[in-house]
Amino acid sequence: MGNGWDKIFAPDVVTISVSLNDMSGIYIHIPFCRKACTYCNFHFSTNLIRRSEMLDCILAELEQRCDFLEEKTVRSIYLGGGTPSVLGERELERLFSKIYDLFEVDADSEITLESNPDDLNRDYLKMLSETPVNRLSIGIQCLDEEYLRWMNRSHNLHQAISSVENALELGFNKLTADLIFGLPHRKSADLLSDLEQFKNWGLRHFSAYALTVEPKTVLDHQIKTGKMQPLHEEASAQQFELLMGWAENNQYEQYEISNFAKNGCRAVHNSSYWKGLKYLGCGPSAHSFDGEKRYWNISNNALYMKSIENGQLPLEMENLSPKDRYNEYVLTGLRLIEGISLERALELYPGAEKELKSTVEYFLKLGYMKIRDGGNYALSRQGKLMADYISSEMMVVE
Ligand code: SF4
Repeated sequence: MGNGWDKIFAPDVVTISVSLNDMSGIYIHIPFCRKACTYCNFHFSTNLIRRSEMLDCILAELEQRCDFLEEKTVRSIYLGGGTPSVLGERELERLFSKIYDLFEVDADSEITLESNPDDLNRDYLKMLSETPVNRLSIGIQCLDEEYLRWMNRSHNLHQAISSVENALELGFNKLTADLIFGLPHRKSADLLSDLEQFKNWGLRHFSAYALTVEPKTVLDHQIKTGKMQPLHEEASAQQFELLMGWAENNQYEQYEISNFAKNGCRAVHNSSYWKGLKYLGCGPSAHSFDGEKRYWNISNNALYMKSIENGQLPLEMENLSPKDRYNEYVLTGLRLIEGISLERALELYPGAEKELKSTVEYFLKLGYMKIRDGGNYALSRQGKLMADYISSEMMVVE
């Protein structure tokens, strides 16, 4: 990496002026992937040709919106997508130079790059180790050649293994891996064997998601046209239960329904979403939150670039009503180990009192919720298996 990084790391760019807990985050959406995974409905294009123009536009958006966060000190930067590891050295240098010019980045910031194993060869990792990136999120998904092919992942089993081993060898000690469970006919023993491998690598964080059928995906089409059997939800729930048990036995704290951490190594950036902290999101389809309003950018690469080039921000905004804030609090709070405080929920929307108290009572009796020390209400292990249903029962819809 060239001299650009020396400038970025100059100590005088760092000012600690507010409590770490209040600091905001920056999310950058890199809307490109080498291949389209069959189950994925995130926003991305497999046409990488206009990557450089896209980066110009993202940098321009960052400039236009640098006052979005009142507090200029950021505590986390997250490059997500898409596949940010398609970015090369020069592109990363341009992106970080812009961010460090516009914002004060706290010295202890968590700076994450989402990556696919096929990009993480030793040369790329060496280059990354000289950038501000200090945490890698690796899209492993499963350690099984056949299923990786079935999902149309861009990596193979060998790359999955070598990406983690190389990253560890080159000093990346903040690693997290994504895992998919509920893959059709995949044996639970194989899922457990993947988890054992994560533990043996010494990973202190992983995220686990059930395979779901999202509209307009290849998987959706395959099921609708009879090329694939519908997914077996019960088998998926059984694997989730198994996974939660394994995590508990192996000292991984399930601090969020899909996220597991050892020794307190929770994800700073994602935790800030769940805590309702402010964040700025740039790039097509990126979302932002200023404490009161939500904003989301258009999910179309060509229209996003055209709008930025014309000097217009390609975003829509929603002012959150007290009911929206209550619903968001319940939805995200129930996913967290800390659960929800009834007082806080009712402060946000007092009109929900009668309904909320009787619904909580009902789920407590069924054993789907539990009362935590301190009085918050959280999902029990059984409750986590039907988290969507429980939160929808507690949300205010009319
Ligand atoms: S690499 Fe990630 S973002 Fe890209 S298609 Fe696959 S799952 Fe979706």
